[in-house]
Amino acid sequence: MSTIFSLDHAKDLDNQDPLREIREEFSIPKQSNGEDEIYLCGNSLGLQPRLAAQYVNDELGQWRALGVKGHFSGDYPWMPYHEFLSQGFADLVGAKTTEVVSMNTLTANLHFMMVSFYRPTNQRHKIIIEDHAFPSDHYAVESQIKYHGHDPKESMILLKPRDGEETLRDEDIIQAIEEHGDTTSLILLPGVQYYTGQVLDMESITKAGHAKGCYVGFDLAHAAGNIPMELHQWGPDFAAWCTYKYLNSGPGSVAGCFVHERHHKNKELPRFAGWWGHDKESRFKMENSFVPTESAEAWQLSNPPILSLASIRGSLDTVAKAGGIHKLREKSLKLTAYLRQLLESELADEVNILTPKSEKASGAQLSLTINLHGTDGKTIFDAIEAAGVTCDFRYPNVIRVAPVPQYNSFEDCYRFVVILKQAIEGAAS
Ligand SMILES: *Cc1c(COP(=O)(O)O)cnc(C)c1O
Repeated sequence: MSTIFSLDHAKDLDNQDPLREIREEFSIPKQSNGEDEIYLCGNSLGLQPRLAAQYVNDELGQWRALGVKGHFSGDYPWMPYHEFLSQGFADLVGAKTTEVVSMNTLTANLHFMMVSFYRPTNQRHKIIIEDHAFPSDHYAVESQIKYHGHDPKESMILLKPRDGEETLRDEDIIQAIEEHGDTTSLILLPGVQYYTGQVLDMESITKAGHAKGCYVGFDLAHAAGNIPMELHQWGPDFAAWCTYKYLNSGPGSVAGCFVHERHHKNKELPRFAGWWGHDKESRFKMENSFVPTESAEAWQLSNPPILSLASIRGSLDTVAKAGGIHKLREKSLKLTAYLRQLLESELADEVNILTPKSEKASGAQLSLTINLHGTDGKTIFDAIEAAGVTCDFRYPNVIRVAPVPQYNSFEDCYRFVVILKQAIEGAAS
């Protein structure tokens, strides 16, 4: 047994962790024995920040006390409420505040972005996505292609890892863009792949796509709140993300969207419009002549669900308390590296890690498969869940574990590996 595989070592690492107290800002679910769960599922649904609950309660109070006047009164009036989230989102994705907006939900935003940025012609009709895209992204793309009267068999280019490999090689993505670029309208790829945890090289993909005259968009569902980004500088045309995974804003909470500023003044770009995208000065004149805001806000449709935005504001303030995404990433790199080290030293033969090892190509999550004759990943998953671990299982056989720097500890990683080891020994005996 290695010396790093001990509770004392894990506790030492926690004591040295400058962000250890941020865990106190969260409610950690309990096991039936009263102990904290080993919650490694922030890639799926992040835990509740204390501030999220507080801010939602504040808004319920405003509504109780003020009724409709809540739109214009108090410290956080509802009329401009989405603007209170702009700085937090901008910091997370590396954008100008005018380039980000909270609206709708993720899949809805992908569709609305494709209304503007997927405009197929007979010459340029393809969308490049990955073969193992999240089903919702696959359906959204497929349905957009059909909606425009094209055939997904010809217009959907699905990027696959090489035979025998689990993750996409950057050079193969660029190669596919070179090959199909002239007939491609849009490249839509994830920032972080949901199944393998691989981080794609968003900057090179954007550059290669633009060189071929394609629009480039990213789905940041697993990237926002997980890794720092520089969207403004990298230059994709758009991006969208949900806020309930690493952004801890609660189930189904409102999503985020980025539109690069180069598109803000373009009056030719088609969009599906709604009154919340109309210029703020004249919105309430109700004149029925659409004047888009010159920012990402122009893509908003409705006045947004304030209770959900309040929760996001609580989450973003919690990120700020931790010192921002770069500080969180520093811890995340150490936390995930420790988990990987333990798996490699204790379970090298039984556990295979699909997630790339390099810092550039990985975030918080590790995706594991179990190599054990006579059992499958699901059996092991059920056993560790019964022992107090919350993580998730994705068919056919991947266990995803994501130590999240805001609320997970080195001790969580250690305890997880102890439990996984016991489950594997139990299944093997
Ligand atoms: C989580 C996730 C979704 C979920 O979409 P919703 O519209 O929020 O239900 C979509 N795409 C990816 C890549 C995801 O990881």
